[in-house]
This record gives sequence, structure tokens and C-alpha cells, in this order.
Amino acid sequence: MGKIAFIGLGNMGGPMALNLHKAGHAVRAFDLSKPACDKVAEGGIAIAASAADAVAGADTVITMLPASQHVEGLFLGAGDLLAQLPAGTLVIDSSTIAAATSRKVAEAAKARGVAFIDAPVSGGTGGAIAGTLTFMVGGDTADLERARPVLEKMGANIFHAGGVGAGQTAKICNNMLLGILMAGTSEAIALGVANGLDPKVLSEIMRRSSGGNWALEKYNPWPGVMDTAPASKGYAGGFGTDLMLKDLGLAQENAIAVKASTPLGGMARALYAAHSIAGHGAEDFSSVIKMVQKRG
Ligand code: NAD
Repeated sequence: MGKIAFIGLGNMGGPMALNLHKAGHAVRAFDLSKPACDKVAEGGIAIAASAADAVAGADTVITMLPASQHVEGLFLGAGDLLAQLPAGTLVIDSSTIAAATSRKVAEAAKARGVAFIDAPVSGGTGGAIAGTLTFMVGGDTADLERARPVLEKMGANIFHAGGVGAGQTAKICNNMLLGILMAGTSEAIALGVANGLDPKVLSEIMRRSSGGNWALEKYNPWPGVMDTAPASKGYAGGFGTDLMLKDLGLAQENAIAVKASTPLGGMARALYAAHSIAGHGAEDFSSVIKMVQKRG
């Protein structure tokens, strides 16, 4: 098994790197945040002093960073990490970023003989820990096949969406729907509770009825309904409101570019933006329920 450099050890990258380590891969990891590094070091992963240090001798580089500017900055910006990768290296970017940025980095990589695929994920932190993520891959078939044994250690489903950037397009379609579903689920539970219903009973009724969806199955936004959900842990960890806001922004930018009509996606973006401005940007996105919960 080849050597893997893993850059970005946050809520998702940390457990993903740990699964590769547990599967027997030699992983050298790096994050700008020391607490994030410490967490994976406890799991036995070697921590590099810098991104450049992490990639030295690696044949596969995986990145799990917040947004487009972080991925572009790392590979093409001041650090110019791409220039330090020998020809033949495979880069797997699992961050959710603009498809145009994926294509820009992939083009620069190709010019150096470095293979690049975009492989954003779905499944949340629970899926990252369990190794059951869904990967949505954009890139050449040969590069995906090279990446597959590594992706299989972190995920249960691997889809080839198309050429470079197609994985990102699939991901923003999915997350636009998720943002809408979480907002709608929140409204429905809050309406029931305002009428005196028990949130647990109502959630179970809707989960097994035609309103059933992923939020009700795995990620209930009402505190105490689901022990494992961020809502029951003070909305800590999980998928940050600001990350959801970024994804809804990417969906709207894309919709404008291709002249698609996405009215609910636009409303969801406005809702999460107001929620972020109200001070909930770092909380899990299911905290959007606070916008519609009755107080007192
Ligand atoms: P996070 O904020 O928890 O982690 C990102 C990490 O990247 C941080 O630890 C940060 O210090 C590090 N980082 C930023 N710039 C860096 C650099 N130049 N070098 C090294 N480290 C750097 O975010 P997350 O929740 O792990 O999400 C990562 C990506 O995955 C995002 O694009 C997000 O949209 C996507 N995503 C998240 C979830 C989820 O449930 N959290 C699910 C699917 C997809």
C-alpha cells in the first residue's frame, strides 16, 4: 500500500484519515489547527510539520478543506504545493468547492503530470467515523480506479459523476436539497410542538410517513429526539451552518451561470445567511431550527 498525505483534519478529515490508518495505510497528516492534529495523533497518525512535509514521499494526496479558496491557496497559492508533487502523484480533493476551482487545479496538475479527481462526500460526521461515506467523483475513469481502493476504506458508495468538477456539481445539488429538507423538517416539528405535540412522537410519525427524509432518519434537529444527532450535543461538531451557507451559495452561483430556476434553494440560502448573522455560523446547520422555535 502506498503512502498517503492527508491535509485538513477537521470534523470530516480527522475520522477519514483515521480510517485509512486503521486499514493499514501509512498516513502522514497536516492541519493548520494544532487541536485537530492532536486528535488524530492520539489515534496513531504521524503529524507533519507542514503541508510540504506531509506530501514528501507520498504517492496519494488527500485534501479535506473548508472552501474553494483553501484548496486553490494550498495547491496554487503561496505554498505552491503542486510544484512539490512529482509526476505520477494522485490528488484526491474531497472538500466541497466550486467545480470551476476543481477544474483550475486539475488543469495545473495535468500540466505537471499529476492526476487530480474531485471526490466530495455525503454522509456527515457519522458516515466519516463509520467509513460509510458516499463519494461523488469527477475525473478520468483511470484516475478513479486508482483512487478506488483508498476511497473504499472511507466510504460505502462511490459514484462516477463525470469529468473533473462533476462530483462537485452533484454535491451542490445534493446539499441544496439537504438545506431545504432540514429547514422544512425544522418548520414541521416546530409547528407540531407549538400545538402541544411531543417532538419525538411527531418525528417518528413523519419519518414513517410521506414526509420521511434523511434529517428525520439520522439528524433530527430537535434536541433530545436523537441522542447521536448534533442537536442533542448543543449543536457542536457536525456540519457547520457556515459550510451549509457556502454550499447553498455555490448552488446559487451555478444556477445563475446555467440559468436554472432554484427558488427554494435561494430561500434556503437567505434563511441560513440570517441564521449565521444571528451568531450561529459555527454551530451545526440543524440549529437552523432556532429560527422557527417558539421561545417561552
Ligand atoms: P472543518 O472546518 O471541521 O475542517 C476543516 C479543516 O481544514 C480545519 O481543521 C482547518 O484548520 C483545516 N485547514 C484549512 N486550511 C488549511 C490549510 N491550508 N492547510 C491545512 N489545513 C487547513 O470542516 P469539515 O466539516 O471537516 O468539512 C470539510 C469539507 O467537507 C468542507 O468543504 C465541507 O463543506 C465538506 N463536508 C462536510 C460535512 C460535514 O458533515 N461536516 C459533510 C460533507 C462534506
